Amino acid sequence: MTTDFDLLNLHPQLVQSVSEQGYLDPMPIQSAVIPLMLTGRDVIGQAQTGTGKTAAFALPILNNLNAGHAKVQALVLTPTRELALQVAGAFSTYGKYSQARILAVYGGQPYAPQINQLRRGVDVVIGTPGRVIDLIEKDILDLSQIRVVVLDEADEMLSMGFIQEIETILAKIPAERQTALFSATMPSEIRRLAERYLHDAQQVTIRREQVAVEAIQQSCYLVKEADKLAALTRLFEVEEITSALIFVRTRTGTGELANELTLRGFPAEALNGDMSQDARERTLARFRKNQIKVLVATDVAARGLDIDDISHVFNFDLPDDPEIYVHRIGRTGRAGKSGIAISLYAPFEKRRLSQIEGFLRRKIERASLPSEEEIRNRREEQLLSQVKMWLQRGRCRREKELAAQLCAEGFDPLEIAAAALKIARAEEKQRPIAALSEVVESAPAVRREDSPPNPRNSRHSSSGDVREQGMVRLSLNLGRQHGIRPNDIVGAIAGDAHIPGSRIGKISILEKRSLVDLPEELVTQVLSRKTRVRIRQQPVELQLA
Ligand code: AMP
Repeated sequence: MTTDFDLLNLHPQLVQSVSEQGYLDPMPIQSAVIPLMLTGRDVIGQAQTGTGKTAAFALPILNNLNAGHAKVQALVLTPTRELALQVAGAFSTYGKYSQARILAVYGGQPYAPQINQLRRGVDVVIGTPGRVIDLIEKDILDLSQIRVVVLDEADEMLSMGFIQEIETILAKIPAERQTALFSATMPSEIRRLAERYLHDAQQVTIRREQVAVEAIQQSCYLVKEADKLAALTRLFEVEEITSALIFVRTRTGTGELANELTLRGFPAEALNGDMSQDARERTLARFRKNQIKVLVATDVAARGLDIDDISHVFNFDLPDDPEIYVHRIGRTGRAGKSGIAISLYAPFEKRRLSQIEGFLRRKIERASLPSEEEIRNRREEQLLSQVKMWLQRGRCRREKELAAQLCAEGFDPLEIAAAALKIARAEEKQRPIAALSEVVESAPAVRREDSPPNPRNSRHSSSGDVREQGMVRLSLNLGRQHGIRPNDIVGAIAGDAHIPGSRIGKISILEKRSLVDLPEELVTQVLSRKTRVRIRQQPVELQLA
């Protein structure tokens, strides 16, 4: 396999700009795709962000451009404005010595600058399908001289509903063009698209193992669903995080988790599809500049997010699809750097974890969360190392004068230092170490209909004999013969007594009655409710079991 950009037959100007980027060797997708694209072959590249796919198509396109051509010669379609900007940035960087004229076009921007630039002459247009169509319809973008088309992140474009736009655009480009399609996944719609619009395409698949995954240190922690936030804050205490991306399943989850983390002294911001494009871009820009260290995102919102320096990826929820797991963790360990991927999984997510491991063909390390003592020690180590840093720097002139003043008043220097440390660690009070309850393995005999992949159901067990510490067992007059399910009980108790569902412990549905564990401190509140709660039209009676 070629191991050097010099051997890829690229123009020396391109080799020069690539080496200035610090790229030593081509990445596997580049070694495979560049020679194919240079010869004009159609290519299907199954590769994710982080594999080096952008350079894999940008370099051959730049290499084959005709200088000073009046019309657009290459078109790259991307699902999002962010990706369009990133890809355009890559083209400009690689093409800086060849004076390639690059333009990104996307919605939400005024037309005038894009139109003016197109009129002055552009070699490569990178854009989102909607805006590209608008420009074609306005007769501004002329596709008649296009020789190469790239569909980047084709699966994302399809899942965003761009299929019609893509087909309309492809129909307007001369048939003798070269077409390259890149996609992280290859569902049947993508195959169909490739069959219709690509000719004699060579498929290049970058095996999962070749993706950065190898370089990523992966571990996972088994915690109760309700303890995930506590677990995360404990990990934040001990991990050396320079920049972290936390994945959660829902949009609302992003905001909630970002708020909870911020309240606990770990400032975080949300990135989700509810935000306007501008707000998303501002957040991303601040994350990129490291003004925000922690970003909580959904898979959709993190699409196209291309940042090399993410030290940690956290999976607050495990994704259903193992490929998404690989996609998520591939955000760290980029560009030759090592990365850390940490997953929290509740008992009900165990199956997902083993599916992920099967997909990766490797085991993910089961780790234990840091104990309270470890966290306290770690805080003290950090405090001392900060003090030592200032001692070494020796730039505490005014503070020394203040200490001298206290000494002159007769205080002992050791006492003064201790008092100063006490003040310095006062903010720790804002960060109490959250307690974690032990995960009780659910009993095996769980009825199928009671155990869909829903966190609430992980509480359910038909044996009902293990009780967690601090929990009191209540008995409820309805059971299996009344057709009730754990969710009914959670809904009735949580809804009626206004307590979070997550506080409700194990639920056991017996034949004629059910048992439910509640935290001691909530029992009175629940039992004292005067209103008659009903489940499936049947009145509920609760009492201590
Ligand atoms: P991509 O998959 O195109 O988003 O690229 C992922 C990252 O890898 C980008 O930040 C590129 O700058 C970087 N990259 C691309 N090619 C190479 C290479 N040959 N050596 C090192 N880094 C690279």
